[in-house]
Amino acid sequence: MNKPSLPSQTKVVIIGGGVMGVSLLYHLALEGWTDILLLEKGELTSGSTWHAAGQCPSFIADYNMAKIHDHGIHLYPKLEELTGQYVSWHGCGGIRFALKQSEVEWFHRVASMGKLIGYECEIIDPEKIRQLNPHANIDGVLAGAWTPHDGHVDPAGITQAMAKGARMLGAKIITHNRVIDINRKKSGDWELVTEQGNIQCEMVVNAAGCYARQVSQMVGTDSPITNMKHTYMVTESVPEFMQRDEEMPVIRDPYPSAYYRQEQKSALIGIYETANSEECWTHRNGWPEWESENELFNPDFDNLLPYIERVMQRIPMWEELSIKRVVCGAIPHTPDGNPCLGPAAGLENFWHCNGASIGIAAGAGSGKYLAQWMIYGDSEINMAGVDPRRFGQFAPGTYTKAKSHQDYEHMYALHLPGEERPAARKARITPLYDRLLEQGAKYTEANGWERPKLFSPGGREEQAGFRHNNVFEIVARECAAVRERVGLLDLSSFAKYEVTGKDAEAMLNRVSANKMSMRTGGITLTHYLSPAGRISGESTITRLKDNYYYVLSGAAAEDRDLDTLKQGILDSEQVQVKNVSDDYGVLVLAGPRSRDVLQKLTNADLGNKRFRWLTGKEITVADVAVRALRVNYVGELGWELHCPMDDMLHLYDALWATGQPFDIANFGTYAVNSMRMEKAYKGWSTELSNEITMVEADLMRFFANSKDDFIGKEATLDVSEAGVSTQIAYLEVESTDSDIAGGEPVFADGLLVGVTTSGGYGHTTRKSLGFAYVEPEYARIGTQLSVELLGQAHKAVVIGDPVWDPEAIRSRADG
Ligand SMILES: Cc1cc2nc3c(=O)[nH]c(=O)nc-3n(C[C@H](O)[C@H](O)[C@H](O)COP(=O)(O)OP(=O)(O)OC[C@H]3O[C@@H](n4cnc5c(N)ncnc54)[C@H](O)[C@@H]3O)c2cc1C
Repeated sequence: MNKPSLPSQTKVVIIGGGVMGVSLLYHLALEGWTDILLLEKGELTSGSTWHAAGQCPSFIADYNMAKIHDHGIHLYPKLEELTGQYVSWHGCGGIRFALKQSEVEWFHRVASMGKLIGYECEIIDPEKIRQLNPHANIDGVLAGAWTPHDGHVDPAGITQAMAKGARMLGAKIITHNRVIDINRKKSGDWELVTEQGNIQCEMVVNAAGCYARQVSQMVGTDSPITNMKHTYMVTESVPEFMQRDEEMPVIRDPYPSAYYRQEQKSALIGIYETANSEECWTHRNGWPEWESENELFNPDFDNLLPYIERVMQRIPMWEELSIKRVVCGAIPHTPDGNPCLGPAAGLENFWHCNGASIGIAAGAGSGKYLAQWMIYGDSEINMAGVDPRRFGQFAPGTYTKAKSHQDYEHMYALHLPGEERPAARKARITPLYDRLLEQGAKYTEANGWERPKLFSPGGREEQAGFRHNNVFEIVARECAAVRERVGLLDLSSFAKYEVTGKDAEAMLNRVSANKMSMRTGGITLTHYLSPAGRISGESTITRLKDNYYYVLSGAAAEDRDLDTLKQGILDSEQVQVKNVSDDYGVLVLAGPRSRDVLQKLTNADLGNKRFRWLTGKEITVADVAVRALRVNYVGELGWELHCPMDDMLHLYDALWATGQPFDIANFGTYAVNSMRMEKAYKGWSTELSNEITMVEADLMRFFANSKDDFIGKEATLDVSEAGVSTQIAYLEVESTDSDIAGGEPVFADGLLVGVTTSGGYGHTTRKSLGFAYVEPEYARIGTQLSVELLGQAHKAVVIGDPVWDPEAIRSRADG
């Protein structure tokens, strides 16, 4: 085969020929893009891919990551037939062991998810485990999650097969050609400086694995990645395996924090150390040499030994075997363990396809869904959990390092809802941090921000779990305080932007679906749409004065919505967008007595005549200049008070002291979730995502049809006319001790009709509530459904109006 030479121009250049880059190339080509090129500095797979153990588990906690894994498990066994390239797929299945009851509950949740995604997952008892693996000593194992249709594969085989498939479709691959630098041309195209010359392209993809940070640096940015050392070993032949034709399932076992399986007739054991995990290339601050190829490291056997001993306790017949091969290689890890798939913050047409810690399992699906995003503007699955912009600019460096170690060390640990992990906390705090701690705040984290989830008067720690727990009553009391009196919350984690300039209004009207308020002080809830009408973001926008808008988004959307706003400005327009997230703190004062408290600290008239619901004003509160917005997410009379970060402590103390006669209480985000469910307020990234349009989400009242053309308008109208195949439903569930968490299947008369997105317990109304997307005929009010929570069927009914204050009288209350 003739080696292709470097063209001068192409549509897409993918940097990196590991499983991630090659899969993307293949899937772009499958979708019809063939003017695409992959550049690899060595041979294909010579980074992390070649030495991977090749396991592809169906079992994974995250609903959307499970869809990503599922694609690989379907594609890899077929690749040989599709491309003629041998891939060595071993469909031996896998068993994950549960050692605790909470893990068994989790297994039921994952098994339910399988019904939605299409993989089989059976919760098996110890007896069945023994049948599947008669050699294991399963003392202490309560159950197994048996996924019979997954397995392991030769990582180089699948990568070469996808490379062959991509070439067959017209894509190009050039190996031994390193990308040295990347420049932006005036035209907006990219120019890549490579060892073989320069090339221009419309889009660049950073699929550089452990080199992702170095490649990001070429465009003046960074990536939240730490390169971790990981070891597996292969023994000499196991006599018992020689006598058996059938291959043992892969075992995943929290006891030794290890996976172990059959590798031909040998045993393969891989360890995720739960302490003292190590990084690669520490002498170079974690950065590999450009010359590095197929590099392996010396493992620290002293650290590994206790884990290996535990594996031997499990499979005693392996005790006497000698080790034939040790593989200690580098794996990129992100702070949350998910890969980075999507646009780079602040850089148009620069994409990430990296940060994959289980890249063999995730490779195929990552390529498929990222290719959809690049080509069509949206992927068919919810990509919020893999969008590289979910980590703010603060993340690369120390924060990422600490989180990545934690992620690596918890590879076999269940992360229970409510469990707080200690690494890299306090990355972003407000001046109230210590004050609220004194008041009993228990913090959780959002985009690096510490925010109180609840206030525990006696200092009680939450016992994390899937069911209602020891903080249930505390949260109930916080809800009661807000519903009956007045509550105070630090919600500074909002992303905040100032959009100014003579064309600000025109720009905001073009990039979002609702119409900006014409009146000074008007607040608009609006959604950003893709050209295909899918929901990419949600903001509350206040017209503070002419040509001056204050824009608020969810914490995790900070970089993403900043891109939407900045990239939405036309060359001809005069608009400035400033991210002021760190400059302003936010206190939410809510509840029927909130006006009484606030009025004591300001001369501003807070009555309905002068300060209506859904309006904002710059006022002075306790001598602090405040942007007061009469809006909240809990459905009560109240104000969000946005003030300079440095004034927060003074403002909080004043509100707290003034609120004493009204029995003011602190509240946290758990109470917010409870109250927003009662008001049926939808959340971005759960109910509102790139999977759906405003039609399915029942948001057309925020769709300004009368406005001139705006992004996504035509597509949304087309969907509205054509009809939808799924529709949001607000549900009340018959459940006493657990609530909808999202990713659970919904049935009607035994028929699978939908999936839940989020939920919670409404403490005031004493109802378990949630949202689901279901087939439209099942979204009608009164429809009886069944939701599978932790593996158990629970009756549910579709309800229409919010269960709390459906007429919104309370938030509009006068005084
Ligand atoms: C011991 C071990 C066992 C593992 N077992 C499993 C497993 O069982 N299952 C699983 O799913 N995962 C496993 N993994 C993880 C898996 O190997 C990685 O997640 C995956 O290989 C990452 O693929 P990638 O394409 O992102 O990176 P890589 O394979 O490293 O590819 C990146 C490529 O980019 C190239 N490159 C970088 N910079 C440039 C440049 N400037 N110009 C041109 N080319 C460049 C590099 O040469 C490299 O080839 C294991 C990892 C290790 C170390």
